Amino acid sequence: MKVPFLDLRAHHGPILEQLTAAVHKVISSNHFAGGPVVEEFEEDFAAYCGAPHAIGVGSGTEALWLTLLALDIGPGDEVITSPNTFMATAEAITYCGAKPVFADVDSVNYTINPEKLERAITPRTKAVIPVHIFGQPADLGPIQEITRKHGLLLISDACQAHGAKYRNQPVAAIGDATCFSFYPGKNLGAFGEAGAVVTSHQKLQEKIRILRDHGQVRKYHHSMIGWNCRMDAIQAAVLKVKLTHLDQANQSRRSHAQQYNEGLGGLEGIITPVEAEYAHHVYHIYAIRTSQREELISFLRNCGIECGIHYPVAVHQQEAYRQLGYQPGDFPVAEQCAREFISLPMFPELTRGQIAHVVNSIQDAMAVVDGGAQRVSQPVPMPG
Ligand SMILES: *Cc1c(COP(=O)(O)O)cnc(C)c1O
Repeated sequence: MKVPFLDLRAHHGPILEQLTAAVHKVISSNHFAGGPVVEEFEEDFAAYCGAPHAIGVGSGTEALWLTLLALDIGPGDEVITSPNTFMATAEAITYCGAKPVFADVDSVNYTINPEKLERAITPRTKAVIPVHIFGQPADLGPIQEITRKHGLLLISDACQAHGAKYRNQPVAAIGDATCFSFYPGKNLGAFGEAGAVVTSHQKLQEKIRILRDHGQVRKYHHSMIGWNCRMDAIQAAVLKVKLTHLDQANQSRRSHAQQYNEGLGGLEGIITPVEAEYAHHVYHIYAIRTSQREELISFLRNCGIECGIHYPVAVHQQEAYRQLGYQPGDFPVAEQCAREFISLPMFPELTRGQIAHVVNSIQDAMAVVDGGAQRVSQPVPMPG
């Protein structure tokens, strides 16, 4: 049995007519870069997020970058984030001239550890960017207490967390701004690149709208230096349709996660993800941990199962960040995650049969490696 890591075709098949009609509407509207369809999606998405404003941009990376620019974060400033994330979170900080500072993640939730975050604050710190990694919200309550106490901005990276909730509130209803990506493989994905910033601050949303359109206040009148970060209307049309299916898709992901948990929980040598007590997790990625990753991935490949690794190198250990001077062991939890994570197939249209095949294959793999010379050992306990 073949089990792909992700199958977008299976997701689009049943709604293809709706999607095609929406794209045709854009073609006849004659507005392709920004325009009324983008505005319609922005309204729908803001309402979905429980916040007054959503600003459509070209990608999640642009959402992060423009938010930082609009908040006047730049040279001399520090922004604290998680080392257990996709490069773009830190890259956006660097790209506006500020310095990314990392704080290690929690060993169970895999999101930034609030105590370690607080210890990383210096007089230069301007903002923190918790990342709702894999669809698990960071612990926003304590994080917001810390940002308030120290007068810092709270910007969330929710690029993997469309529909995730923190204590029954949509994650974007908390903090100063929340950034989303609609890269095709995300829980809410476009037919190309797109992103959005969600915020409740009127002034901030105005400034981001101006920045994303070359700093224009009206056509050919530029009040500031911006960039071209407009959202494509065809992407907005697709997203508007797909947004109406998001909750159901997330519900499927949650029930797949439960089936994985039931099959793999307690299996020696495997650590399954845990939904935090405060969280409504949306399982963008279902990542297990094992100390024998390479062996397990190749065993599963032979069973027709495709896995991923998110991410093999923690951000502070990326070659591009050599100059920051971090050393191995600086963030032991994130580093161990980078060595041990395996992302199992996860998308709404996975079948119970496919998940059962993945579960059985992992059980077989652990028995084989267990009985053989290269025993899969129990993962080393997490530090911290
Ligand atoms: C996908 C992603 C981004 C970047 O989004 P793009 O739309 O690809 O630019 C940023 N942060 C995280 C955590 C992501 O998963």
